[in-house]
Amino acid sequence: MAETFTLKLVARKPLADNTEHLVFEREDGQPLCYQPGQFIQLHFPCGEAMARRSYSIASIPCGEQPCCQQVEIAVSWVEGGLATTCLQNLKPGETIQASGPLGRFCLPDETVDRYVLVGTGTGITPYRAMWPEIRQRMTRGTRFALLFGARKPEDLIYEADFLAMQAESEGRFQYLPCLSRELRQPPRPEDFHGYVQDRFDSLNPDPEADVFYLCGNPDMVDAAAEKLRALGFPSGRIRREKYLSPKR
Ligand SMILES: Cc1cc2nc3c(=O)[nH]c(=O)nc-3n(C[C@H](O)[C@H](O)[C@H](O)COP(=O)(O)OP(=O)(O)OC[C@H]3O[C@@H](n4cnc5c(N)ncnc54)[C@H](O)[C@@H]3O)c2cc1C
Repeated sequence: MAETFTLKLVARKPLADNTEHLVFEREDGQPLCYQPGQFIQLHFPCGEAMARRSYSIASIPCGEQPCCQQVEIAVSWVEGGLATTCLQNLKPGETIQASGPLGRFCLPDETVDRYVLVGTGTGITPYRAMWPEIRQRMTRGTRFALLFGARKPEDLIYEADFLAMQAESEGRFQYLPCLSRELRQPPRPEDFHGYVQDRFDSLNPDPEADVFYLCGNPDMVDAAAEKLRALGFPSGRIRREKYLSPKR
C-alpha cells in the first residue's frame, strides 16, 4: 500500500551525459520496503497544485525483506521538464515529498524457463533492483537475458553492476548491450548494433518458455510488444512498463 513520506537528498552523481543517480533517505529514518520493479512518485509544486512524476526504484534491496535504507533512482533530464528543473536544483540536505511504492512490474511467484528483461535508458533500473530475486531464481534453474538499449556506449548506465551480475551467474545471466547509434571502439563480443527488438531473433524466443519484460521508452515498448505478438507470444508473457510523462 502506498504511503506518503518525505525524502532527503543525500547524494547525487552523473551516470551519463543526460542522466544522474540520486540517493535519498526517508526523513523519518524508516527504510523503504518495496517489491523490486516498483516505482515511487515524487511530488513537485506546479502552480497552485502538486504534480507527481514516477521513478523506478534502482536500489538493490538488502536483507531478508526487500527493503532499503537509501532510495536510489536514475533520472534522465527532459529539457524544460517540471521534475527535471526541480531535481536539477535540489541540493543535498534538501527534502521532497514522495509516495509509494507503486506498480506491478515485478517478478511474480511462478516457474519460468527464461526471462528476457528489456530496457532502454533509465528503463533498465528495475532490473538492477531485481538482482537478489534474479540470483535466487537462478539457483532454481531459471535463465535470464538482459537487453539494454542505448544510443552510445557512455549511456550504458550501471554497466559495471550488470557485468558483475553476469560474472557471478555461471552463464545463467547474459548481459546484452544494444547500441543504436555508436558502437564501442573496439566493440565487445556481446555488443550489438541496432535496437533491442532487432536482437530478439538471435535469442530464439519461445512463447512456451520465455517471459519478456519491456521497460522505458514507450515507442520501444510498443514496437517490441508488436514483434513478440507476431512471434506468437500471448499478452501474459509480455509485461510492460512505459515511461510516460503525464500531460500538464
Ligand atoms: C512507471 C514510470 C516509471 C518511470 N521511471 C522513470 C525513471 O526511473 N527515470 C526517469 O528518468 N524517468 C522515469 N519515468 C518518467 C518520469 O516520470 C517523468 O515523466 C520524466 O522525468 C519527465 O518529467 P518532467 O516533469 O521533467 O517533464 P515534463 O514536464 O513531464 O515534460 C516536459 C516535456 O517533455 C516531454 N517529455 C517528457 N518525457 C520525455 C522523454 N522521456 N523524452 C522526450 N520528451 C519527453 C513532455 O511530453 C513535455 O512536452 C517514469 C515514468 C513512469 C510512468
